[in-house]
Amino acid sequence: MKDEKKKIVIIGAGIAGLSAGIYGLLAGYEVSIYEKNQVAGGECMGWNRRGYHIDNCIHWLTGTKKGTELRKVWETVGALSPDQEFAGTEVFYTSCVGNQRATLWNDLERTEKELLELSPEDEAEIRKFITHVRYAQSCEVPSSKPMDMMGIRDYIEMGRSMADMPKVMKEYGKIDLEDLAEKFKHPVLKKLVSGYMPKEYTAYSFIVSYATMASGNGEIPAGGSLAMVNRMVKRFRELGGTLFCGTSVNRILIQGKKTYGIALENGEQITADYVICAADARVLFTQLIGEKYMNKRWREVYSDTRRYPLFSGFQIAYSISKERYHENGNVLFDCEPFMIGGRSVENVCVKSFAYEKAFAPESKTVLQTNVLQYDEDYFFWESLDKEEYRRKKEELIGIITDRILTRFPELEGDIEFLDCWTPLTYHRYCNAYHGAYMSFVTKKDEKPFRVKGTVKGISNLYLASQWIMAPGGLPVAVVAGKFAVQRILKKEGRFQNGNSLPLS
Ligand SMILES: Cc1cc2nc3c(=O)[nH]c(=O)nc-3n(C[C@H](O)[C@H](O)[C@H](O)COP(=O)(O)OP(=O)(O)OC[C@H]3O[C@@H](n4cnc5c(N)ncnc54)[C@H](O)[C@@H]3O)c2cc1C
Repeated sequence: MKDEKKKIVIIGAGIAGLSAGIYGLLAGYEVSIYEKNQVAGGECMGWNRRGYHIDNCIHWLTGTKKGTELRKVWETVGALSPDQEFAGTEVFYTSCVGNQRATLWNDLERTEKELLELSPEDEAEIRKFITHVRYAQSCEVPSSKPMDMMGIRDYIEMGRSMADMPKVMKEYGKIDLEDLAEKFKHPVLKKLVSGYMPKEYTAYSFIVSYATMASGNGEIPAGGSLAMVNRMVKRFRELGGTLFCGTSVNRILIQGKKTYGIALENGEQITADYVICAADARVLFTQLIGEKYMNKRWREVYSDTRRYPLFSGFQIAYSISKERYHENGNVLFDCEPFMIGGRSVENVCVKSFAYEKAFAPESKTVLQTNVLQYDEDYFFWESLDKEEYRRKKEELIGIITDRILTRFPELEGDIEFLDCWTPLTYHRYCNAYHGAYMSFVTKKDEKPFRVKGTVKGISNLYLASQWIMAPGGLPVAVVAGKFAVQRILKKEGRFQNGNSLPLS
C-alpha cells in the first residue's frame, strides 16, 4: 500500500463488525467502527444486576477445537487465545417430561447407553441418530474464504474433510424436528429431539449442533460472552483501530454507484473509501440505504415469515443458591401451559451458570429461563403500550417462577428475580429485526439462505453480519467480517489464494 492508507468505516461493533475491523487493520487499512450502544458486542452481550453477571449469549461457540480453520479465525480476532480456558461443560442439554428425563451428553457412548436403557423399543432409531451425530462431527463452517471465491482445490479439500456430511444430509436433510420426533416412540425422546430448537429447523441442524458440542468444537470460553467481546475490542484497539461507542449511524452516503462514507445521527459526515455495514441487514435496507437496493432474494425472505421464520426469546434471570440446584447445563421441562400473546407455551428451558464462579457471589449462581418466541410473538409484544408491556412481563414472571418452583420445589424461598427481557429488548438494543438473534430458520423444503454480502448498485459497500448465511450465530458473524475484507482485497487485486497477508 502507498503511504496514505485507505479508510474503511464500519457500522456496528457486534462480533461481525469487530471481526471486519480487525481483519481490515491486518490488511493495512485505517479502520473506524461506529456503534450505537455504549459498549461493543451487540447480541453477544452480558450485563450486571445487583452483584450478578447475566451472560446472554454463548451456549456453545463453534470453532473452539484446535487445528480447525475457524479456531484460527477466533484466535486472529483475539476472541480466543492459543491457551484459552473453557467452561468444560459435559452436557448439550436435558429434556424432562413428567418425572422421566433424557440427556444428550457430550460423551456419545454415554448418551447412547442411557437412551437405550430409557427406551429399548427405539433402539434402531437411537443407534441411527448417534451414528449420524458421529458423522456430523466432521462438519465445519467454511471460514477460509467466501464460497464464491474458492477454487477447485478448496472445494476438493472441503469435500474431503467433510466426507461424512452427505450421509447426514441424506438421512436428516429433508425432515424437520417434528418429523424426527415422529420417528421415536418414547415421549421423552420425542421431546428430546424436537423441544430445544424451534421445531421448524431441519433435523440435520440439530444433529450438527449436538455433534459440534460432542466433538469438543463447541465450548464456552471462560469469562463468557462479554469477556470474549472485550478481548476482541482490545485486539482491535491494539492494532490501531478507533471505536466510537454511543454513536448511531443514520445514513450511508451514496453518490452514483459508490458510497463515500456515513452520516451520523448528530449530522456529522465521515468519509471513507469503503463502508462495511455490520448492523442488522434490515437496518441497511431500510434506514441506511433504502429498500430499492434490496435484491429479489432478500425481498423473498423478508416477505414470508411462514417460509422463513425467525425466533427470539422471552427470558428471565434469577439468583439461586448453588447448593439447592443440581442440574447441569440447559434443562427443558414440560409444565402447565400458559399463554404469551395468542400462543400456548408448554415447556420452559432453564440454565444454571454455576460453571462460571465470577458471575455470582460465592454460594450463589444465576439461573436463566428462555421461552422461544417467534415472529407473531414479536408482533404481540410490539402491539402493547408501555404500561401493558410492563404488566405482561410481570404477569409472565409470576407464571414462569411458579412453573420453575413446581418443577424444582427445592428452590422454594431461594429464588430471587434479577431481570427480564423480551424480543423487543433485542430490537431496542441491537436494532434486531423481529428481535431475532439468529438468522432465518432453514425449513425442510426451503433453500438455506445465503448471500454474498455485497449490494448491487453500490460497488464499495459490504454487509458483514450473521444475516448473510443461515442459521447465523457467532461463527457466521466472525467469518462474515473476514469475508467482507477479503472481498475488498479482491476488488483491489490484493487477494490471492494462500494470501501473504495475515488473514488466516
Ligand atoms: C440469548 C442468546 C443466545 C445465543 N446463543 C448463541 C450461541 O450459543 N452460539 C452462537 O453461535 N450464537 C448465539 N447467539 C447468537 C449471536 O449472539 C449472534 O448471532 C451474533 O452475536 C450476531 O452478531 P452480529 O455482529 O452479526 O450482529 P449484532 O450482534 O446484532 O451486531 C450489530 C451491531 O450493530 C449495532 N447497530 C445497529 N444499528 C446501528 C446503527 N444504526 N448505528 C450504529 N450501530 C448500529 C448494534 O447495536 C449491534 O451492536 C445467541 C444470541 C442470544 C441473544
